[in-house]
Amino acid sequence: MKHYYFILFYLFCNVFIYTFHGTIWVYLFCFLMFSAVVIWGSFDIGLGYFVHSLTHKMTKIKEAALTFDDGPTEFTPKFLDLLKENNIKATFFCIGKQIEKYPETFQRIIDEGHAVGNHTYSHSNQTGFLSTSKMAEEIKKCDEVMLQTGNLKTRLYRPPFGVTNPNIAKAIKLTGKKASAGMSVRWTLLLKMRTKFTGKLPKG
Ligand SMILES: [Zn+2]
Repeated sequence: MKHYYFILFYLFCNVFIYTFHGTIWVYLFCFLMFSAVVIWGSFDIGLGYFVHSLTHKMTKIKEAALTFDDGPTEFTPKFLDLLKENNIKATFFCIGKQIEKYPETFQRIIDEGHAVGNHTYSHSNQTGFLSTSKMAEEIKKCDEVMLQTGNLKTRLYRPPFGVTNPNIAKAIKLTGKKASAGMSVRWTLLLKMRTKFTGKLPKG
């Protein structure tokens, strides 16, 4: 939680400005810098600003972790075929609602030995504005669907849009999840692969 340390630092800056009789513009500048860092921290989960996230792991050989978000969808079987052909295992961050729509595909992900992570129940556009309890509900509901459909429990969680804030951080703690980042890998590969299969760019 770098956020709380940064708040302390911000308060210290204000005391410093007060001591040296800084003008209103110095306060304003300080506040703008503070806001910029908080916004940056909200959108870049890899920074670990609000939540500690898994971003990398030391391995003996050079390798990359392949992850897919927002499924299962009608295109997931094509990804699964491709992964099977190349004997590659990936991690799928699934949405509860999508699992309800494509239960067989979800089962296939598990059966073929891929890892599964929680990507909330509805992938709400309001994710950044939800209360802690609403956010925890989103995570728990997705867990329930996973358990009912695939008899699976996961500790992995990736926030929709990679957004984190104090409420989301609390919800992750409440539900006992480990947050995962790796968004750059996610975006480049997904862009390439989805463009290949659908001819269009992904939405979220
Ligand atoms: Zn997503």
